This record gives sequence, C-alpha cells and structure tokens, in this order.
Amino acid sequence: MKEIKKNKKPMVYYYAIVVVVLSLLNLFAIPYLKQNKIEEVDYGTFMKLTEQKQIDEVQIKQNEILFTKKEDANKEEKQLYKTGLMKDDQLTQRLYDSGAEFKSTIQEKPNIWLLFLIEWILPMIIFYTLGQLMFRSLLKKRGGGDSMMFNLGKSNARIYIKATDGIKFKDVAGEDEAKESLMEIVTYLHDPSAYQTIGAKMPKGILLVGPPGTGKTMLAKAVAGESNVPFFSISGSEFVEMFVGLGASKVRDLFKQAKEKAPCIVFIDEIDAIGGKRSGKIGGNDEREQTLNQLLTEMDGFETNNGVVILAATNRPDSLDQALLRPGRFDRRVPVELPDLKGREEILKVHANKVKTEENIDYSIIARMASGASGAELANIVNEAALRAVRDHRSSVSQLDLEESIETVFAGYQKKNAILTDKEKLTVAYHETGHALLAALQSHSAPVQKITIIPRTSGALGYTMQVEEDNHNLYTKEELLNKIATFTAGRAAEEVRFGEVTTGASNDIEQATRIARAMITRYGMSDTFDMVAMETLQNEYLGGDTTLACSQATAAEIDQKVIELVSTQHKKAVQILTEHRDQLDALSMYLYEKETITGEEFMAILNKDKTLE
Ligand code: ADP
Ligand code: ZN
Repeated sequence: MKEIKKNKKPMVYYYAIVVVVLSLLNLFAIPYLKQNKIEEVDYGTFMKLTEQKQIDEVQIKQNEILFTKKEDANKEEKQLYKTGLMKDDQLTQRLYDSGAEFKSTIQEKPNIWLLFLIEWILPMIIFYTLGQLMFRSLLKKRGGGDSMMFNLGKSNARIYIKATDGIKFKDVAGEDEAKESLMEIVTYLHDPSAYQTIGAKMPKGILLVGPPGTGKTMLAKAVAGESNVPFFSISGSEFVEMFVGLGASKVRDLFKQAKEKAPCIVFIDEIDAIGGKRSGKIGGNDEREQTLNQLLTEMDGFETNNGVVILAATNRPDSLDQALLRPGRFDRRVPVELPDLKGREEILKVHANKVKTEENIDYSIIARMASGASGAELANIVNEAALRAVRDHRSSVSQLDLEESIETVFAGYQKKNAILTDKEKLTVAYHETGHALLAALQSHSAPVQKITIIPRTSGALGYTMQVEEDNHNLYTKEELLNKIATFTAGRAAEEVRFGEVTTGASNDIEQATRIARAMITRYGMSDTFDMVAMETLQNEYLGGDTTLACSQATAAEIDQKVIELVSTQHKKAVQILTEHRDQLDALSMYLYEKETITGEEFMAILNKDKTLE
C-alpha cells in the first residue's frame, strides 16, 4: 500500500530555509554586486584616448582618474576605467578640449537599488509573509488551546491511497462471519446511490471487537482494499495529546479530510483510548473527554449516506462510553474472535504460503497444537519456523520446525545454559509426568501431545502439552473438575515421590483456582448458589478480570467453596498417582533420560506397564 503522509512541515522549517538562502546571498552575490567593475589602463592609453576625443565622463580624484569612454555612452552599463594620476599641468585643458565632461562622482548606479532590494526589501517581505501565516495558523488553533508550538492540531491520519495493491479479504483467513458482515460495507462503498434510492441507511460506525491480534486492523484494511477507496488510519491513543483541546481539533481535522475524500474509510484503532466511559467527575480526564465529545459531534454531524464509513477496533468493548454505542454512532458490532481449529489451519496456510515449505506438511496437526493462538501468534509461529530452518541451514520449513516454533512462541526459546541440579531435574520430570498421567488416566481429558523438561526462557522448567481433538466450546462440570485435578497433579506427583513440595506449582495453582472460582461464581456449578452470578466478567478479551458482586458473607463462603473444590481434586490426584506409582516412576525416569517425549511414546510406556500388571 502506498502510504502518503499529509503532514505539513512545521513553520520553523521554512524559516530555516529563508535564513540559509539569505546568508548565501550575503556571502556570494552581494560582494559580487558591490564590487565596482573598474578596468585599469595605463596613463599612455588614457592620453591617447584624450587625443582621440574618446573620453566621455571624467573624475579626477586625489590620486587616480576615473573615466568612461564615448563609445560606451549608449550602453546600459558603462564600463568604468581608471588610471593613475601623473604630474601633468595640461591635463585639465586637454580634457576640456577633447570635450570630456567633468564629474564629481562616477558610479555604477543600478547596483545600489539591487543591493537595497536584496539586502532589505526581500527579507522583509519574506519574514512578513511567514509571520502572517504563522499568526493565522495560531488563530485557527485558538479553539484548540493556545500553544506556541506549530502544527500540533493536525491529525496524524495516514492516507492509504487507492488500496488496490493492498490487503484483500482473501488475505484474511478464517473470520468468515466478520467478512460477511463487512462485505455489505464494500457493496455500499462501491455504489452508495443504490442505498440512497431505497432509503436504506448504512451504519455510520462499525465496531470491530475481539482479542488482540485477531486481524481487526487487517479486516479494516481489507474493506478499503476491496472497495478500492482511500483508507484513513489513526490510533485512538494518537488523539490524546498533552494539551487540552488538541485531540478535539485533530478529530475535526480528520473528519474534514475524510469528507473531502469520500467515499472512504476512516479506521480508528484502539478506540477505547478515547472512547472510554466518561467519569463525569470534575477534574476528570478533560482532554480525553473533549476528544470523545468532538468525535460524537462529528459523527452526528455528517449525514448517513455521504460515503464515509468509520471502522473502529477495540479489545475492551465493555469499557466504551454508552454514548458511543448509540444508534447513529457505532451501532454495529462485528465480533472478531480467536480463530477456531479450521480458522487456525487456514491462517497457518496463508502465512506458510509466504515462506518456502516442504511438501508434506500437515497443517491440521499444527493448528490443533496451537489451540488458543491468535492470528498474530500463528503468523509468528510460521515466521519462527522459517527462522529455525535458516539456523539449521535448510532451505525450506519442515513440520518439525512448525511444531517446535509453537513452543517457542508460547514458552520462549530453550534455555541452553540453564543449570538444574539432578534433583531439580528429577523433580520436574515427576511434576510433568504427574500432569500427563492424570490427563491420560481420567476420561474426558485432552490427550497428551508432548512432555518436555527443557527449561524455556519464559521461566517454565518444563511443560505438558495437551491437545484437544477438535473444537471445544462447552465444558461439562466433570471435564472442568478433571482439568483442576490435572493442574494439581504436578504437585501431587512431587508429594507422592518425594514427600515434599516445591515452588514449581505456582502457575498450576493459579489456573486451578481460576477454574474453580469460575465454576462457583459464574457457571452455577455449586450446590449452594444455584444460578446466581456472584462475579461479573470484565475485559473478556484481555485476560478476563472479574469483579465480585455479592455481600461480604457470601464472598467468604465462596472462598470456602473454592478451597473445598480444589482440595478435593488435589486429593483425587494424589490418590490416582499413588495407585499408579509404578507407571509414575517408569515414565518419570524415561522423561528424565530423554528430556522430551511425544504423546505416543508416553502412551506406549503407559500401556506396556498396564499389561504387565
Ligand atoms: P488486531 O488489529 O486485531 O490486533 P492485526 O490485524 O493487527 O490484529 O493482526 C496482526 C497480524 O496478525 C497481521 O498482520 C497478520 O499477519 C496476522 N493475522 C491476524 N489475523 C489474521 C487472519 N485472520 N488471517 C491472516 N493473518 C492474520
Ligand atoms: Zn505444573
């Protein structure tokens, strides 16, 4: 896409140019003009010229004679000659006889005017005009805060002109619902009049909502690309300026530009940066609120069918001010969710197309392994795989590269020089085997794909990768309980084997607690609270914080329930692992030796030991 910056250069820039030009003039041109073009001749020549009555004007100075020739009389610029003064009594008489004209000064006159013009008049004119321009631009910003800096109120919107070579819908893999919904905008931008004839109103603003990296920006660009219209893109945070009012003037400026270029698309990324709920408090965030108010005014101000479509993206939809979501503003919401299994596979393929790959790659396996990955993460996985291939001096990406890079993206690089003591390594082996064993021994758990005890840069000392067979949207109570048991099993294995506990389980503890809490407060899976919501979810796309919505007494009861729930599962895990102590030992030792084992190896050993029993 061709990106053209519309920003004007600051006034200071022009001043600098003027100063440079003037100094150059002073250095070179003016001395040249100032210098009198006088040619020196010898006295003999002068006498000869006098005799031939060739002298036109003459000035006798203290020690030299200046003169012009008659043959130059009609010329525009007379050549000036000089000669030394000799002791010559008849000089005056002879000159008089020759018809020369005596002058008190002979000078080249036009240069003075030129000099005056260049040295004085020109700079004055230039500075005056620049001053005027500056003054006017300051006046214009009066509404937008008095600032002594130039050009602050201009919007930074970038224009992508004629996005024909840009992103199209086909570049955005998956997200079929979002594309379908946006297709209507494309049709509209192709021919707004069809809508006007019927009287159908196109939504003015469309909100793309979803977790980070799911392709919201891409979709907005694709709409512009498909409709072949200019694309203005600005991030919400760019509106928020240091000076109160500047953001508002940027909004004004952006909409002015957009209206001139209609039909076009205005894309506001991270709209929550300006569109957050207004506090209504005195001394709240004035600048942000003014900017938001200006945005609302602008959106109300333009008619529905003028061909400007505003797309905005956010991953915090619930923090947006209600006024922004009213009909006539951002009244259409297009969810852009994390891709499902099929979507992940498609995204992987789109990005794998841009690198050289081996032929027999099974993308569905990679997609399954990368459960929960966003489009951006999938793009990153493909790139990491390509980097890995280069590091190994191979010319194409292999299946293994892709599988390995999933771990790189989620857990960081392998820590080559992390030094674990033997005891630590054994503990990690038991911990991970505990997770894997519980997952394998319980029904309704995702199968184990891989176990590794190679430390990663993310700080993980090892991990167990479980892979769901297909999309999982609903979880039963039993499945959730099994998940909690699996999380606690790492610690349980340490207890069963060593009779002591380590800090290695902190992440497991967090996860188990989160699930247990959600079961009780949000999923209605406790006997006591029935279907009453005790917590509400916020920021569902960014980790999902929750806020309690119950009395102190209930809160205490909830805590009690959560503890009970987790500890029941923990006990269950300890029990299962004790019952399968032989397999736990065998598998842990095998993992300790090999450091990384696949799901198949794991299952083979597990089943062999089973048959031995
Ligand atoms: P968002 O705006 O939702 O945070 P972006 O549109 O900026 O996400 O996406 C970031 C990158 O992730 C894109 O440049 C692209 O490489 C990749 N990506 C995300 N979603 C998709 C998708 N559906 N298809 C292909 N690539 C995607
Ligand atoms: Zn663990």
